[in-house]
Amino acid sequence: MIRPRVAVIGLGSVGSMALWRLAARGVEAVGYERFSPGHDRSAHGGESRLFRTAYLEDPGYVPLLRRARELWQRLEAESGASLLRLTGMLMIGSAGSDDMANVFSSVERYGVDAETVPLHEARARWPQHAFREDDVIVLDREAGYLRPELSVLHAATRARERGAIVHRYTTVTALDVRDDGVRVRTGSGSERFDHAVVTAGPWAAKVLAGLAPYVSVRRPVSAWFPARTPELFAPERFPPFIRSTPTDCYGVPALDGSGVKLGLSEKDNRPVDDPDSLDRHVPIDEVDAFRKVAADYFPDLFADPIRVSAYMEGYTPDGHGLVGPAEGSGRVTVVAGLSGHGFKLAPALGDIAADYAVDGTSAHTLDLLDPGRYPG
Ligand SMILES: Cc1cc2nc3c(=O)[nH]c(=O)nc-3n(C[C@H](O)[C@H](O)[C@H](O)COP(=O)(O)OP(=O)(O)OC[C@H]3O[C@@H](n4cnc5c(N)ncnc54)[C@H](O)[C@@H]3O)c2cc1C
Repeated sequence: MIRPRVAVIGLGSVGSMALWRLAARGVEAVGYERFSPGHDRSAHGGESRLFRTAYLEDPGYVPLLRRARELWQRLEAESGASLLRLTGMLMIGSAGSDDMANVFSSVERYGVDAETVPLHEARARWPQHAFREDDVIVLDREAGYLRPELSVLHAATRARERGAIVHRYTTVTALDVRDDGVRVRTGSGSERFDHAVVTAGPWAAKVLAGLAPYVSVRRPVSAWFPARTPELFAPERFPPFIRSTPTDCYGVPALDGSGVKLGLSEKDNRPVDDPDSLDRHVPIDEVDAFRKVAADYFPDLFADPIRVSAYMEGYTPDGHGLVGPAEGSGRVTVVAGLSGHGFKLAPALGDIAADYAVDGTSAHTLDLLDPGRYPG
């Protein structure tokens, strides 16, 4: 059987995994990364990402999330690294919200291992939170947190160990798609491939201009808050959480002696005009929004962050990613616009991209991720 030669453009969250999954199939795979795998200048910086299965975005993701978990655990076994820690996670919101309806639907339809915890019991188990009288609290046991930079680094390393080539500090400047192949251009020349996988994250529309109407780049911010009683916020005592009402926010336990990481709602993320010139300065009014969350919901945290950092992400109009063939020739696969919730899915999406590159189809993808739902 003749295996195609495949280029992967962008070795971040999904690209590093796609390279690993292609190399695992014995394909000749070549990855291009404008920085070095594991850098913190795009969508995967900030030391931690939430992994959850009772999915507030849409219960239809549950099979893909379980597939992702299986592949995370495979990467851990192959690399010997600890990347996914399943501590459980709290989903907090009001009974009638769409988010909580999707959480309950995930549990009912797919039997996600989860428990609704009565308010008085939640207050006793997690005294770190200032729960509200109308809070509904679900403990998703198929959940925890990931280490993003390490994950990207280990996936790219495993890919190289399995024969892939990694070009670091090499920006792809153009893709020429022809009937007989794809030419990938960089500052030092061009190379021909049978197929290209575009996983350029916030830069996706710079590589494939047709994505521009559907992928807008925004700047999520993370802030780290120290605790007066640090042991209360260790991962074994303080599971990650998402609160959807009345304030939309999420948090990750203190890792490696750092503070608790908090993030705010997607609507607070400011637009980025050009991903090449992300402004990483976070003005005081943005910091104040974080201070309010810390003060309102976590009485034991100091309300002033010890660190604040800005990242980038591509968002689609409907909040679901674009995963699949990018245009008519069948020679380009895209994974982009993951809309603030794609890291946990990265190995499953990388594997789907590898399916498309090698077989032209994938049994694991979801209709709601089909790029064909948008014209052009
Ligand atoms: C602050 C923050 C918190 C988040 N929290 C969560 C969470 O808790 N759970 C979750 O599941 N998701 C979360 N997300 C979303 C998740 O991190 C993203 O969906 C995911 O990282 C996107 O992956 P990607 O591969 O599309 O982009 P990236 O990881 O950014 O990868 C793109 C790569 O392409 C490279 N590149 C771009 N252009 C070129 C080029 N022309 N040539 C060569 N290389 C190129 C870039 O340098 C980069 O390395 C969060 C995102 C942010 C920003």
